[in-house]
Amino acid sequence: MAKSRFEYVRTYEQDTMLLPNTYIVIRLDGRGFHRFSASYGFEKPNDKRALGLMNAAAKQVMKQLPDVAGAYGQSDEYSFVLSRQCRLFDRREAKLVSTFASTFTAQYQFLWPEYFPATPLDRNMLPSFDARAVLYPSLREVRDYFSWRQADCHINNLYNTCFWTLVLRGGLSEHDAEQALMGTNSGDKNEVLFSRFGINYNNEDIMFRKGTVLIRDVGADTAADLGEPQQDKSKRQAEREEKKKRKAEIAELHVDVIGDEFWTDAGRWIS
Ligand code: ATP
Ligand code: ATP
Ligand code: MG
Ligand code: MG
Ligand code: MG
Ligand code: MG
Ligand code: MG
Repeated sequence: MAKSRFEYVRTYEQDTMLLPNTYIVIRLDGRGFHRFSASYGFEKPNDKRALGLMNAAAKQVMKQLPDVAGAYGQSDEYSFVLSRQCRLFDRREAKLVSTFASTFTAQYQFLWPEYFPATPLDRNMLPSFDARAVLYPSLREVRDYFSWRQADCHINNLYNTCFWTLVLRGGLSEHDAEQALMGTNSGDKNEVLFSRFGINYNNEDIMFRKGTVLIRDVGADTAADLGEPQQDKSKRQAEREEKKKRKAEIAELHVDVIGDEFWTDAGRWIS
């Protein structure tokens, strides 16, 4: 195509290419979901429909973007891990981050009526998600990243469970519940729940306590192939793998990711 005299403005565009051979984690987070959740009457502290919707949207993202090896979600956030060899969009950061945010947002809005049939979305209060990409040099940091998000899930959920139990069952105002929990450690919070309300925190829904892990269940033989360096693969082989990844079932797990167990088998889903 002939170039116009305006073409030079393109040279002002700056692309950040994410470092090669590093794991890419893309984390999305709902914008203003404190207000959003109140406005649509999410159950407190945990609305199961809202978490189901987050998980369903994330699964669709994984179906459409086969480079995603696995994901972790809790509250209004989801993190997607891309394999080290990922070459999607030539690893251009802006392309990756904006595509994940918009694909997820589109899926979330599309799936909304399935999860909230009685509460249609209001155009003045539509959900949107921000996104960032972070690079990690080895599986060690990826693992610690998952642990960090799950520890965050635990801390927030224990606090929120206490807070809302004090408000909804204990009859405290939100202000008084906040005061009551000020300076308490996790042992104190477990004790409040147990001695005052007969609630054993460990019996709360495991999805609330642990969040959700999504992994692509490609089967052991494919997983071994996926571990090979990309440059050693023929084009046909790479295409076959991509097809397999697209077709693979996505497993939804509510498990501990801080201990070793989940990771002893990690080669099966991440490379
Ligand atoms: P920001 O735009 O900075 O992310 P935010 O209001 O979204 O602001 P977050 O720290 O992301 O703040 O917190 C998300 C909030 O959304 C939670 O504090 C909680 O109030 C609400 N929320 C998210 N998911 C659920 C859910 N499944 N059930 C009930 N409330 C939820
Ligand atoms: P990429 O993902 O790299 O952006 P692309 O297929 O979106 O790939 P673009 O250069 O963005 O490529 O071009 C968008 C294409 O979408 C156009 O070439 C045209 O075929 C199609 N298109 C967009 N808007 C319209 C429209 N209003 N009517 C008809 N075709 C359209
Ligand atoms: Mg935020
Ligand atoms: Mg948020
Ligand atoms: Mg959040
Ligand atoms: Mg385009
Ligand atoms: Mg275009």
